[in-house]
Amino acid sequence: MAKYTPMMEQYLKIKAEYKDAFLFFRLGDFYEMFFDDAINASQELEITLTKRDSGQKEPIPMCGIPYHAAENYIKVLIEKGYKVAICEQVEDPKTAKGVVKREVIQLITPGTVMESTMLNEGENNYIASLSHFTDGSYVIVYNDLSTGENRIALISHGWDAVIHELYNQPIKEVVISSNLPQELQEQLKGRLNITLSYQDEVKFNAEYRSLCENLNDERLLKGFSRLLNYVQDTQKRSLDHLQKAEVIELNQYLSLDMYSKRNLELTETIIKKGKHGSLLWVLDKTVTAMGSRMLKKWLERPLLNKAIIEERLEIVEGFYHGFIERDTLREALKSVYDLERLAGRIAFGNVNARDLIQLKQSLEKIPQIKEVLIQFEQDQIKDLARELVFPKHLVELLDASLADEPPISIKEGAIIKDGYNEQLDNYRYASRNGKQWIAELERKEKQETKIKSLKIGYNRVFGYYIEVTKANLHLLPEGKYERKQTLTNAERYITPELKEKEELILEAEEKSVDLEYNLFIEIREQIKEHIPELQHLANAVSKIDVLQAFAAVSEANNYKRPNFVEEKVSIKNGRHPVIEQVMNDGAFVPNDVSLDEDKNILLITGPNMSGKSTYMRQLALTVIMGQIGCFVPCDEADLIIFDQIFTRIGAADDLVSGQSTFMVEMLEANHAIANATKKSLILLDEIGRGTSTYDGMALAQAIVEYIHNNIKAKTLFSTHYHELTALEETLSNLKNIHVRAEEYEGNVVFLHQIKEGAADESYGIHVAKLADLPESLIERARTILHQLESNDKPAPSTEKMESGQLSFFVEEKKTAKKQKLSASDEKVINDLKHLNLFEMTPLEAMNELYRLQKDVKK
Ligand code: ADP
Ligand code: MG
Repeated sequence: MAKYTPMMEQYLKIKAEYKDAFLFFRLGDFYEMFFDDAINASQELEITLTKRDSGQKEPIPMCGIPYHAAENYIKVLIEKGYKVAICEQVEDPKTAKGVVKREVIQLITPGTVMESTMLNEGENNYIASLSHFTDGSYVIVYNDLSTGENRIALISHGWDAVIHELYNQPIKEVVISSNLPQELQEQLKGRLNITLSYQDEVKFNAEYRSLCENLNDERLLKGFSRLLNYVQDTQKRSLDHLQKAEVIELNQYLSLDMYSKRNLELTETIIKKGKHGSLLWVLDKTVTAMGSRMLKKWLERPLLNKAIIEERLEIVEGFYHGFIERDTLREALKSVYDLERLAGRIAFGNVNARDLIQLKQSLEKIPQIKEVLIQFEQDQIKDLARELVFPKHLVELLDASLADEPPISIKEGAIIKDGYNEQLDNYRYASRNGKQWIAELERKEKQETKIKSLKIGYNRVFGYYIEVTKANLHLLPEGKYERKQTLTNAERYITPELKEKEELILEAEEKSVDLEYNLFIEIREQIKEHIPELQHLANAVSKIDVLQAFAAVSEANNYKRPNFVEEKVSIKNGRHPVIEQVMNDGAFVPNDVSLDEDKNILLITGPNMSGKSTYMRQLALTVIMGQIGCFVPCDEADLIIFDQIFTRIGAADDLVSGQSTFMVEMLEANHAIANATKKSLILLDEIGRGTSTYDGMALAQAIVEYIHNNIKAKTLFSTHYHELTALEETLSNLKNIHVRAEEYEGNVVFLHQIKEGAADESYGIHVAKLADLPESLIERARTILHQLESNDKPAPSTEKMESGQLSFFVEEKKTAKKQKLSASDEKVINDLKHLNLFEMTPLEAMNELYRLQKDVKK
């Protein structure tokens, strides 16, 4: 077999160390890929696959991308979950002997990207590490390289808890040991869809000692080291912005299992997987990216500590009422740049002078923010002001050193202010002075030679020259000028004197550009010292932003401050925070909730589409909003601090994992039963639907009884098994409630009102009618129902009857139409329809509106 060329040998050697990454191999102005990398990249990136001679008989596959366009290609690969190793020429090809030396200078992975174009502003980008120990515990470390955040959790109650913890976090990559059991690795990949990376050798790195101060457990230290080792190996540089590891004490937070995180649509919706329609979407009135990221973190970990919750609520209350100050605050916050990620980029060495000007402008807002905060009377808000420490020295440095409008490039000068550095001022003086001297020379020469058109010019090849038109040549004295260049109608000359000045000017300019670059690097290094200050500030600003957002949303949507009490939950006119936003104003029907020691289980009956699931979800969302310190959607709320929320809600099949709906139901129910305490909230929505009627009903009843007798958690239990309402007689802590619906002209009208007692009738058939099933079929169903009700036995079937449950979906609009309107209301709607808004003055519109409202109020 023929040998590879020396360069190919070099390639193969490097590639062997980066088997799981695309190796971008720098060749002149291109990054080239070879062999399988080339084949795969050409497909993923849709670029042409070519061939290259490698010394072998057959040419090998190759494809390449221009180095200056690399960022976009890297982005595509990273988003698809791949890794990219950047291999550069590390010596000057001109002076190199033999093959140019090349090294991988960075491994870019989904979890370690720093480029702002590859990051989502409002979301953290975590790389996590997962370590397992022989005692059965696990350690999870979250690191966001772009912000420097490090958080660590110890999980001692089994693998499932690991999955529940990792679920729904913005994790792009998990670093594990290769001896984590294969089956568990599959789960990480399959259920959570994250890139796996391996770091087997784990050694403590003394360089990072100060980050580990909080870690008093060997396991935590080991888990953190695994992550740090990996990050260090891939990034190949010191990371000055990494923050001290913060231990997440999981028992300090309301625990939400993965089912609840998903079912409650806290940060994304189940079907579309987007923020729109989630609780986060409603609450996110933050004005900075930092605030938006913090809000998301708060939503994922509601608090248990009453004092901290009350502290947040007190601040929200202050902001809520001080809306003029809040407005000023929001405006000031809007001009605060992403300090947290900026700090990361400063440490990484990829900021330019413009970024630093933005930093300065952001910091200059801090005193103004402090001033607004101090005006509030709440001590908690004054404390917030105190947390904002204005980094005076940093601002002074930035102000003294950087030009106000620097260019993007840091290699072309014009970034440092006059007066910052004496040497630079000297160069600039020499250059300006020299130019002035040349202007003076031009004037003198004109005078002496009496040639009015004589001029001094400059070009790159000849430098400075004196130009005289051919017509005037006879006026020049002999011997003084040396001819350099002949043009059609002019000659260009130089003099020794001119050359001497030229040298000084050019040297000064070149040196000043070099010096500016060096000064900039120096300033950047100096700023590194301030990174902890910036991070502290970023944290305080984010918190202020989230709390002002809570006040803003509470005011806009009319939320109320909850009271935290010991034993009961009592909500007056509660609403679903998301659904009320997507409905017309006032269309959402508010409902009360009452749960206490005596009656801690509510059994909810009512027809399909009447609002059972909505009612259950709205309680859970209200609890979560309260425990993150936000006001809640109702007129009045007494809440207890719940320790955990469990849900089994909705019909969303777990298609991804291929489990049947019924299996998922049982898993979710079991998870609740196994973990809930008296202080937990359990929501079980139509449990037992996924199996045959008797089977399902039996299970549903057994589950309610179990919760009633053994767990005593506050529970909402909706069911379509009307038979279960009889449980009220035997289970003393269970209470029946139902959602009211009324019949109107043979159709069902949903009132969405919760009432005491059991629903008296099944409205399924009415709903079927609404869904426009054939009239004969509806008739037949009525007959069957009648027979069932009268003899308590299944009706003989006409053909073969399907067992199991039908579910009907109708649009809300349809039902709304059936509601009866009075003649005068109808007239108002008609008038409204025919208003020609574009022809009206605002005052006319006001008057018309006034009249319409008067009419409906009648
Ligand atoms: P169920 O669980 O009883 O089948 P849902 O809770 O899914 O019913 O509610 C069905 C629809 O009814 C919701 O999508 C919503 O549009 C509407 N709805 C529910 N509760 C209310 C309410 N309180 N006020 C107004 N509309 C409601
Ligand atoms: Mg439902």
